[in-house]
Amino acid sequence: MRFLILSDIHANVDAFDAVLAAAPRHTWDRALVLGDLVGYGAEPNAVIERVLALEPLAVIRGNHDKAACGLGDASDFNHVARLAAVWTADALTPENRMYLERLPAGPRSIDDGVEICHGAPFDEDYYVFDLGDASRALDTASRPVCLFGHTHLPVVYRRDAGGDAGLVPNVDTDGVQLPLTADARYMINPGSVGQPRDGDPRAAFAIYDGDLRVITLRRVEYPVRAAQKRIFDAGLPPNLAHRLAVGR
Ligand code: ZN
Repeated sequence: MRFLILSDIHANVDAFDAVLAAAPRHTWDRALVLGDLVGYGAEPNAVIERVLALEPLAVIRGNHDKAACGLGDASDFNHVARLAAVWTADALTPENRMYLERLPAGPRSIDDGVEICHGAPFDEDYYVFDLGDASRALDTASRPVCLFGHTHLPVVYRRDAGGDAGLVPNVDTDGVQLPLTADARYMINPGSVGQPRDGDPRAAFAIYDGDLRVITLRRVEYPVRAAQKRIFDAGLPPNLAHRLAVGR
């Protein structure tokens, strides 16, 4: 099974469309969506509708999905994130709001080899930022490959008999292929489709071939100015548009 792995789309339909164009349907079998479909960006309904059209194998909620549909209180959000959550709650159609309300929490097992979570297997809202966090996550992951999001930073953490290690993929490269070995366990973040934060403004996603055990990390350019214009026109905080240009 080849999985299209999407995380942190954040209502950025321009980035999402570029990803879907770069990953045509014949290059993957089923989609996995790791949460934060909405929040920050200006097109929450369009993003939810495109996710539904993919008929994904699994979608889990992120903290921004919870905040936008009233499940989370956004008390741990900064001012800008809270404003965006309020804007999003107002913009959602009743159907899409209900869709977000019903999204399951992670972690979710996909098959014998793969599980997904938004933040960490032990806490859907926890940020795995460093090797210490990753080690704790690897302790609690139920499958050899655990896919996660939330930090918006592409990274591969690996545990084998020699210990734990982290690898940040070269951000200049699109299409980095990493073969995963059977004697190791992994925590893998594909990066963010809609609000990259590693200094590379291109949309990030991944494809995992579970039969070949190869993960391919991808970056694609998208019309950032179009996404920015939507944010300005929506009256969302301008910083949410500015940061897209620098990928921070
Ligand atoms: Zn996010």
